[in-house]
Amino acid sequence: MSAFEKHPQWKAIESIHKTLTQNGYRALVAGGAVRDLLLQRMPNDIDIATDALPEQVEGLFDKTVMVGKAFGVSRVLIEGQDIEVATFRKDGLYKDGRKPESVEFTSAKEDAKRRDFTINALFYDLDKKEIMDFVGGQKDIMTKVIRTVGSADQRFAEDKLRILRAIRFHAQLGFTIEQQTTEGIRKHAILIHQVSHERIRDEWIKILKGDFAVSAIGRTNDFGLWSQLFGSWKYSSDDYKKLFGIDSSKDEEVLWILWFLSHCQESKEKLAEIGMQWKLPKSTIQKIVYCFQSLSQLRNIHNVEAVDLAIFMSKPNGRLALEIYQQLYQGRIKELFFEKVQKANTFFENGELPTILVNGEDLIAYGVSPGPRIAKELKRLYRIQLIEKITVKEELLGKIIKDQ
Ligand code: ATP
Ligand code: MG
Repeated sequence: MSAFEKHPQWKAIESIHKTLTQNGYRALVAGGAVRDLLLQRMPNDIDIATDALPEQVEGLFDKTVMVGKAFGVSRVLIEGQDIEVATFRKDGLYKDGRKPESVEFTSAKEDAKRRDFTINALFYDLDKKEIMDFVGGQKDIMTKVIRTVGSADQRFAEDKLRILRAIRFHAQLGFTIEQQTTEGIRKHAILIHQVSHERIRDEWIKILKGDFAVSAIGRTNDFGLWSQLFGSWKYSSDDYKKLFGIDSSKDEEVLWILWFLSHCQESKEKLAEIGMQWKLPKSTIQKIVYCFQSLSQLRNIHNVEAVDLAIFMSKPNGRLALEIYQQLYQGRIKELFFEKVQKANTFFENGELPTILVNGEDLIAYGVSPGPRIAKELKRLYRIQLIEKITVKEELLGKIIKDQ
């Protein structure tokens, strides 16, 4: 129980549970949260499944948002939280390889059967404090197995997103993907593009973040998904061990940048094009491009003065680019690089470089003619300020080279 009680949504869940049960309805914690409870992991979100119909849920709580009334999914806004409360349902026919055309409201048992994997199809009865398992999910959690509820062939035919979810749970939990489930994935991999780019993106980043990411990337390749997802990018398992191992960064932007730059360093245009296809946020694409452009500078580091490296590092994303460079070329970077970074760090005070003591107007007043010379001279003076550790403006002004 402890994993639930510490969850930020816990109070809201208790409150929803109380309201529903006092009004004669059932309210069970459902799906992923029960799986995480058994695994003593902190759930991402806690969902409630109920036999109350969507309009009954709507009537019982002050603030509700109907996500899909026809599909029985409401969101209850309570205790500062946003909780999914879904009516037990059975899916109708699937139309486009993603979603059912309609649903039918039914029992908890039927609701378990429409869920993707047995490990995700458990309920927890908060009154009796017991798990309700209609599909053998507890055993699969104990033996660490990802298995579809019912026929794998049918479940993947219905919804291709489940293919990526299986790989994602493998990446997060390290569970084995069971044989029939594996075969189902292989069979339907070719139709993965029935899933929207946004959903693919969201699952892929969870895969890269997972403790078992390297194995999951390998599975993606084994399952015949690689070219579907990544076109002509080369699969390179040695790189993945270095970049996406258990101790690697869990920062989403860092992971995207590493993922892109370890596969494509063709041109910034190509990177931006693929980033857009992947529906990455604009700011992430910009960072990918910036890091890409910085790589050649950093490769040339032996020709760069430590002060110039410090200025590079002080720019927005400068340190990010440095981290990416170090990650991408780990094991191949010369000692000189680290020495230079260390030296560059000595120019920083409390994590920042001192700001320049003079400005363009000072330079003009001292006889530098307006125009491109100003920027050049400012740059030169700033280097001097940093190297000589000058803190007095007048001293720096004395270093100005006036126009002839
Ligand atoms: P997470 O840790 O990401 O929250 P989760 O298993 O809770 O993982 P959700 O996307 O929150 O996943 O979905 C909640 C539950 O809804 C799942 O546990 C599963 O029972 C069911 N579910 C989600 N997506 C599907 C799907 N595509 N097909 C069938 N059932 C699904
Ligand atoms: Mg969830």
